[in-house]
Amino acid sequence: MDFQYAPAPESRDVVDIRPSYGLFIDGEFTDGHGEPFKSIDPSNEETLAEIACADAADVDRAVKAARTAYDKVWGPMPGRERAKYLYRIARIVQERARELAVLESIDIGKPIRESRDVDVPLVAAHFFYYAGWADKLAYGGFGSDPRPLGVAGQVIPWNFPLLMLAWKIAPALACGNTVVLKPAETTPLTALAFAEICRQADLPPGVVNIVTGAGDTGRLLVGHDGIDKVAFTGSTDVGKQIARGVAGTSKKVTLELGGKAANVIFDDAPLDQAVEGIVNGIFFNQGHVCCAGSRLLVQESVAEELMARLKTRMATLRVGDPLDKNTDIGAINSAEQLQKIRMLSEVGEQEGAQRWSPPCELPQRGFWFAPTVFTSVAQSHRIAREEIFGPVLSVLTFRTPAEAVEKANNTPYGLSAGVWTEKGSRILWMAERLRAGVVWANTFNKFDPASPFGGYKESGYGREGGRHGLEAYLDV
Ligand code: NDP
Repeated sequence: MDFQYAPAPESRDVVDIRPSYGLFIDGEFTDGHGEPFKSIDPSNEETLAEIACADAADVDRAVKAARTAYDKVWGPMPGRERAKYLYRIARIVQERARELAVLESIDIGKPIRESRDVDVPLVAAHFFYYAGWADKLAYGGFGSDPRPLGVAGQVIPWNFPLLMLAWKIAPALACGNTVVLKPAETTPLTALAFAEICRQADLPPGVVNIVTGAGDTGRLLVGHDGIDKVAFTGSTDVGKQIARGVAGTSKKVTLELGGKAANVIFDDAPLDQAVEGIVNGIFFNQGHVCCAGSRLLVQESVAEELMARLKTRMATLRVGDPLDKNTDIGAINSAEQLQKIRMLSEVGEQEGAQRWSPPCELPQRGFWFAPTVFTSVAQSHRIAREEIFGPVLSVLTFRTPAEAVEKANNTPYGLSAGVWTEKGSRILWMAERLRAGVVWANTFNKFDPASPFGGYKESGYGREGGRHGLEAYLDV
């Protein structure tokens, strides 16, 4: 039966967006000396706030504040004391969870269901998890007295703004480093709310500094002589620039870059569950996910049946207001990203793949893209090789497990993969051969602070999360 859902919008009243925001340096909000920029709501293109832009002098001030805090307060502080601050931050994130979820959905365009049930709970979980490590570093396998690196310069993207902040800041602080973090230009608001949380938690000034701005501010930060560590999540192109820039310096680097994950469906997989996994793999967060299951590899004998079920399921996806609790797919984060998704989808058609989207009415204002699937895709097509970073799935088929492995690994990336089969032995056989940092079995896009995450090849190097994530912030 087809029935209509009444709108169920989450209230915006829980957030208080100020007309303008400054930089957060040495525990204070201060003006930036670059040209301020606007953060907009991608679901309706309305301006949310004016944001300060950090220039070279501002970045320098932030790095110096972080250095002083490292030398005088945070570095010498015993781990058990640092832990208290991290636990406090985790609890405040939980207390302010609803506000943070709404703010995140407004600023990036992701459905409230995801920011409320995935992003924000994982942010709190990361701070709790690394708080637990702060006084146990000597038992982590890094020697009896592992030392922090010093000041970390961290640059994060717009797809999971608060969660990427937590992945960066929680382990850095647990290990005794101080940080200067640059959020993405289009999504600075939750990082600035986090700055308020640092104040609320009485975190000593200078331990966390937030410098807003665009790519130039990021470049100034990672190129600053006063930092000891660069942590970056974003595109492979910028990752390569950063790797070139730090080559020959003593800075330690972790890079978490793009992906083009294969989600492999064998003929013995439970197909309805696999369909849910495929939908979650590519349409979660509008497909703005580095580990998205953007290449579907289906065993030929079940391809027809699976595609029929997938299309039926896709027709039920609700695209629209990110703050509506019924929404499955929200807005595309920016006009530039929408342009990229449109361009690559057009190339997909030109190269001969079959394009399909369910009937779906998109809002007039804002940036939107209907869930899309391409069949008859060849490995040479750009939509099978390049990261689209949108709700677009490319479907390829295979006949044997060996062919599945070969096609799955036929990519410059190596961040994640999925395997769907009833046989445990086949899962292990595949996991051993897939060149991907994470292999999900009969599930997809599952995250936990205790699990390391990171890539092979052009997906970057270093691991975030778990015990491995500590290593990136220790002098080992
Ligand atoms: P970028 O790599 O440009 O952005 C990531 C972060 O790096 C942002 O904070 C950005 O600032 C900053 N930055 C940009 N240039 C530099 C630089 N030279 N030095 C230091 N920092 C810099 O990604 P985009 O936002 O341009 O997205 C482009 C594509 O990248 C997407 O379509 C997607 O394919 C991929 N991507 C992958 C992500 C992942 O998680 N692996 C995340 C985001 C994008 P600002 O945003 O302010 O310009």
